[in-house]
Amino acid sequence: MREPGTEPESILRRCGLQVTAQRLAVLHAVVAEPHSTAEEIEQAVRTRLGAISKQAVYDALAALTERGALRRIEPARSPARYECRVGDNHHHLICRSCGRVVDVDCALGTAPCLEASDDAGFEIDEAEVIYWGRCPECVKETTTRTATRGMSDERRARIRKKQ
Ligand SMILES: [Zn+2]
Ligand SMILES: [Zn+2]
Ligand SMILES: [Zn+2]
Repeated sequence: MREPGTEPESILRRCGLQVTAQRLAVLHAVVAEPHSTAEEIEQAVRTRLGAISKQAVYDALAALTERGALRRIEPARSPARYECRVGDNHHHLICRSCGRVVDVDCALGTAPCLEASDDAGFEIDEAEVIYWGRCPECVKETTTRTATRGMSDERRARIRKKQ
């Protein structure tokens, strides 16, 4: 695996991109908060640089993604998300309830890690894997809520029996 090197300046140099304040700020935002949406990145960049147009942020994101400095994932029903962890074939766990995104290493390591039952003559280079489910916090929350509900039902039943 390639040395990650998460210093924004070295990422830009490695990708052959000119170092600009906008690009640096975008990279800082993504390093600090992986899997951010463009809107979240825009907010972080604005906090760092002050006034900056939406278009400037989107241009920086496009250039960084195109040069491989950022990886863009597009989960269903969610805006695109960006991360600096590029060059490996890692996958994502996404919580259906709160939208939390967590990295998970590929069990195989190299793309495509799933073999198509029929490639129909395609030269396949990637299998997109997203694991959908609920994160531990959301599972815990539902379990607690159900438990409480069960308790009050029981109590209600007891009261009914007494009458
Ligand atoms: Zn969740
Ligand atoms: Zn990721
Ligand atoms: Zn995999």
